[in-house]
Amino acid sequence: MQKQDVRFSLVSLGCARTLVDSENIVAQLRDSGFRWVPEGTNEHVTVLNTCSFIQAAVDETEENIRLLSDRKDAGEIRYLVVVGCYPSRFKKDVLKEKFPNVDLWLTTKEEDQIQHALSQMVFGSRFQPVKPQPHMKLTPSHYAYIKISEGCDNWCSFCTIPKIRGKHTSKPIDVIVEEIKKQVSFGAKEFNLIAEDTTAWGEDLFGKPDLPRLLYAIAEVPGVEWIRLMYIFPHRVDEALIAAIRDIPQVIPYLDMPVQHCNTRLLELMNRRYSGPDLDTLITTLYKEIPGLVLRTSLILGFPTETEEEFSELMAFIAKYPFAQLGCFSYSEERETKSARLTPKIPDAEIRSRIKRIMSAQRKILKAMQTEWQDQTVQMIYEGNGIGRSYREAPDVDGRLLVKNPEGLISGQFYDVKLKTPKGYDYHVEVCG
Ligand code: SF4
Repeated sequence: MQKQDVRFSLVSLGCARTLVDSENIVAQLRDSGFRWVPEGTNEHVTVLNTCSFIQAAVDETEENIRLLSDRKDAGEIRYLVVVGCYPSRFKKDVLKEKFPNVDLWLTTKEEDQIQHALSQMVFGSRFQPVKPQPHMKLTPSHYAYIKISEGCDNWCSFCTIPKIRGKHTSKPIDVIVEEIKKQVSFGAKEFNLIAEDTTAWGEDLFGKPDLPRLLYAIAEVPGVEWIRLMYIFPHRVDEALIAAIRDIPQVIPYLDMPVQHCNTRLLELMNRRYSGPDLDTLITTLYKEIPGLVLRTSLILGFPTETEEEFSELMAFIAKYPFAQLGCFSYSEERETKSARLTPKIPDAEIRSRIKRIMSAQRKILKAMQTEWQDQTVQMIYEGNGIGRSYREAPDVDGRLLVKNPEGLISGQFYDVKLKTPKGYDYHVEVCG
């Protein structure tokens, strides 16, 4: 088989962090002469990049493997490759027995070997890498996810990620800056910094975390217009970071800061290293120091032992400190984690009821915020098809701006728009004349 004839497709499950890994996999395979095609177009190889941090993600991954195995049985694909979190979490021997149709399993730490391993498998000893091809993005050209570190050392008691992704390792500053320059050359203006914990960046390089140093360096790159911080860990937000967010014009006043809960007893059981009062002080300071700040957070409902009073405390907390964007997760018991041994468990029906109550309160909170924002003029990055986002909305996870008069707008460009009428999580806007 000629290299040019080998077509591969890639299915990426999970979050933006997996998506960044998927971009690297696509680049590696294209560099060795494989041709990237959409899934289901008679490809020879299908690569499934997986997620498995909770049971629901494991179930989704296994369902996808089963579907692809059926396609292989039907002769629609020749090789099936499964990479990422799923083979990192479970023993390969067990997986091989469970899914014999999978030809190659690679953990997150082995992803860099995919080019070699797959080339050997398809071409055997005849493999010779061809010259690199242009980089392909899986996101639109005007924004990029930049993964600034790998792994996590926080060991939250409910989380499997430190085991799956390993020790926290920061990417060096010059590597990140080069990556950003390359993305600018593709047309990117918005940079969404991601990691398991972005605020841990630099700890392994300098002996202490130093995200501000990285932010100042990124802001120096010509063409960088928005820098958005995702996945910040409350315990590591200090004065220097707040000052950098406030003082660097490109850093937009949007912070994704998963707090998980506000009750000190539960936070201790979760091994989160901050208390309820710490959160009160931090959020008050953030709103005081950073004009126009919007916060996104995520919460875990039904953590073992959570009482009705502690849940009420959380309801009062989100009313006192309104989050513009809020995601709610039901506690998922993962057998390798410390919290799996905690009792009493909260019944599923009770968890569902708590989530319903939180989300109903959140809808009212957001509505009140949206009323405050009415008639404001904000800068919007235009996505195309009548849809845009302001600094208040991160790609993929938040609401959208619905443009009433999109004629003549160019996707990837910035426009000033007036906020007219809210619609659920979205907002109807009009481009300013
Ligand atoms: S900080 Fe995030 S990734 Fe790290 S252990 Fe905690 S929940 Fe998991």
